Amino acid sequence: MSTGQLTIDLEALAANWRALNAMSTTETAAVVKANGYGLGADPVARTLAQAGARRFFVAAAEEGAAVRAALGPGPMIGVFSGHMAGDSALIRDNDLTPMLNSVDQVLRHFETLPQHAFGIQLDTGMNRLGMEPAEWAALRDPVLQQMPALLMSHLACADEPDHFMNAKQLRCFREMTDGLGVPRSLSATGGTILGEAYHFDVTRPGVGLYGGRPFEEARPVVALDLPVIQTREVQPGETVGYGNTWTAQRPSRIATVPAGYADGLFRALAPKLALWHGDTRCPIAGRISMDLITVDITELSEEAPEALSLLGPNQGVDDLADAAGTIGYEILTALGARYARSYRS
Ligand SMILES: *Cc1c(COP(=O)(O)O)cnc(C)c1O
Repeated sequence: MSTGQLTIDLEALAANWRALNAMSTTETAAVVKANGYGLGADPVARTLAQAGARRFFVAAAEEGAAVRAALGPGPMIGVFSGHMAGDSALIRDNDLTPMLNSVDQVLRHFETLPQHAFGIQLDTGMNRLGMEPAEWAALRDPVLQQMPALLMSHLACADEPDHFMNAKQLRCFREMTDGLGVPRSLSATGGTILGEAYHFDVTRPGVGLYGGRPFEEARPVVALDLPVIQTREVQPGETVGYGNTWTAQRPSRIATVPAGYADGLFRALAPKLALWHGDTRCPIAGRISMDLITVDITELSEEAPEALSLLGPNQGVDDLADAAGTIGYEILTALGARYARSYRS
């Protein structure tokens, strides 16, 4: 085996969905956009359907078609980008439910696919997608006559529980949707954790399912083990890697493993990150290159370890995110296509 081994724990994924589902009395959907946050839309969607999810969400109609192929007929598959020009056939043939974002999308949908299921996305302050309060007021009555499947909006700051924006968006969402008798959805992972007032009829967690913050109690879903290609001794004063950024201060042992920035391990990770062998921390030595990482294994009692762990019990996606100055979402969706992937269920 010459590439990293990425292990995806589908049992943990299902357990995370069940745990988020237990937090609310309403329905829990599953967001599987971006190829199931990089972990594989097909196995991820099937696992979550088995766990009990009946509504799924993707970003684009093309992703929806892949999820429909995985799930077969039945579950709702909502498309956040709505009904875009050229997507009518994809939406019809795969029975997708576009979340219509604008007057243009509403007109397009009613013209090209009358009677086809749809939802409405409302903007409550994030200013990214959805109809503004004034647009919605003008369109609401004719749209309601066509019986939308869902009215939804999205919170901008739900990962910060005390942020004033949460209550502000909640108020706006209620003003736009109270008393209309249509199922409603406001919250992703963060809003689900904010509490009952934010749950409405359907919650839409994504990152928490995959083991990321802000769902702190999530079970880790991914593990990444990198086989050691070779080890060597370096003497004090010798350097390792591009740019001579690491110099041995003592007689040291260096292991080289096959993964790099082409596999989603950003160069920015290098100064703060370590790999692990059991519970022994082995710091990265020097720069991360495209396909290789050099690791200081001097502290290891084992002369020639077979593999080192990059994601595992001692270090999760959020630890990598912290080391790179980013968020777990970006680490997950950047995980490379070169790894040998295996699914555990
Ligand atoms: C990505 C996304 C979600 C899921 O968000 P998480 O923070 O990953 O739980 C829910 N709703 C919308 C509109 C999204 O874009």
